[in-house]
Amino acid sequence: MKGYVLDSSALFYGKDFPPSFECVITPGVVRELKKEDMGERLELLLATKIRVVSPSMRSVKKVEEKAKETGDLRRLSQTDIEIVALALDLGYELVSDDYSVQNIARVVGVPCRGMEQKGIREVYRWKAKCKGCGKTFDADVRECDVCGSETRTRRDGRP
Ligand SMILES: [Zn+2]
Repeated sequence: MKGYVLDSSALFYGKDFPPSFECVITPGVVRELKKEDMGERLELLLATKIRVVSPSMRSVKKVEEKAKETGDLRRLSQTDIEIVALALDLGYELVSDDYSVQNIARVVGVPCRGMEQKGIREVYRWKAKCKGCGKTFDADVRECDVCGSETRTRRDGRP
């Protein structure tokens, strides 16, 4: 299984990710997104394909030690350290535009890429579908105008 560990900015600015890859975030990223009022998008992502996983303490320690050596530590948040540690645990690629995150990832041997790089930005569309009558809407419609039921979002293939 191949996959990506994502930071908050990757989720914030990113489109969606190739369906053949698993996407993982840490509890810290969830907290940051909630703070940024990204709860709705987060909900959508968690409902579909993003898993929330905590890194091992061993990897966190290792990343912290290396970051101390390189001088990145003071520029890294706890969440930054966690995502690098998680990518290390899982053997996944890290997605972050943060220079210090990219730097420390390289140091500990985690492949890392920024969102500006293409490839990862494969886009697919989302649709909302009524749980009651099945009518489909644009993804941001939460309530059906026919029967008043709640909608749920689903992937609608590639554009
Ligand atoms: Zn309906």
